[in-house]
Amino acid sequence: MPELPLAAWIALAGVLGLLIGSFLNVVILRLPARMAAAWQREAREILQLAPEEAPLPPGIVREPSHCLHCQHRLSALDNIPLLSWLSLRGRCRYCGTRISVQYPLVELLGGVMSAIVMWKFGPSWAAAGALLLTWTLIACAGIDVRTQLLPDQLTLPLLWLGLILALVPLFVGAKSAILGAAIGYLSLWTVYWLFKLLTGKEGMGYGDFKLLAALGAWMGPLALLPVILLSSLIGALVGGGMILARRHQAQIPIPFGPFLAAAGWVWLVAGDTLLRGYLRLTGLA
Ligand SMILES: [Zn+2]
Repeated sequence: MPELPLAAWIALAGVLGLLIGSFLNVVILRLPARMAAAWQREAREILQLAPEEAPLPPGIVREPSHCLHCQHRLSALDNIPLLSWLSLRGRCRYCGTRISVQYPLVELLGGVMSAIVMWKFGPSWAAAGALLLTWTLIACAGIDVRTQLLPDQLTLPLLWLGLILALVPLFVGAKSAILGAAIGYLSLWTVYWLFKLLTGKEGMGYGDFKLLAALGAWMGPLALLPVILLSSLIGALVGGGMILARRHQAQIPIPFGPFLAAAGWVWLVAGDTLLRGYLRLTGLA
């Protein structure tokens, strides 16, 4: 690594995170649409219906961005993370339609979270791994908020990558990673089936099990309990706030994935601090 002060690395990570955030917006928008189109094609094949004639929705990497309303192709100037949205005051340059606040929000999250990861880990392979994890978690959370789905295309590679990195090891050793993945999956799987048997309802999705398995592979079994507790806490605060603000009716399900992702990330960068604070508070250390 070239000799740069930590502050420069943090700034670099922040700028990289803004740019990646811009890409994550595209993933959040286009991956579910691509998946839905692929399912429809498969279903038509199984049902032996005539194949779908409409073209597939735009891919993630190749097709350039355009305004969702007027379809005008966006120039490089319209694609600068955060700054474009701010300078255009959240409206399309060509047709004036409002641009969702999701775009600058995801870019900002990408930048701030990447900077925090670099501040925590310093320039290292651990920081590189933690950045990958961070970006994937942002994409998972964004897609779950929009569509109530956590795509296998994100959760499973994250799980396999966590297991492979445990061979280095980067965060936890292989034994911890395997245990973390298995216990992460099976714990929520058990809750799911108990809840279903008792109430006949589905309280969460299989995507949640896979995401917790991935977090377990990256951080080991000891992280699972705090991550579940933190995600429930964040979920209760956000869900309660939304119900209080009457933005959300209590019976409409709120996806759990974004809270799991948020809790996993908080534990990644602040788990040791939180644990030390807890031990001091309880007089155990
Ligand atoms: Zn437009």
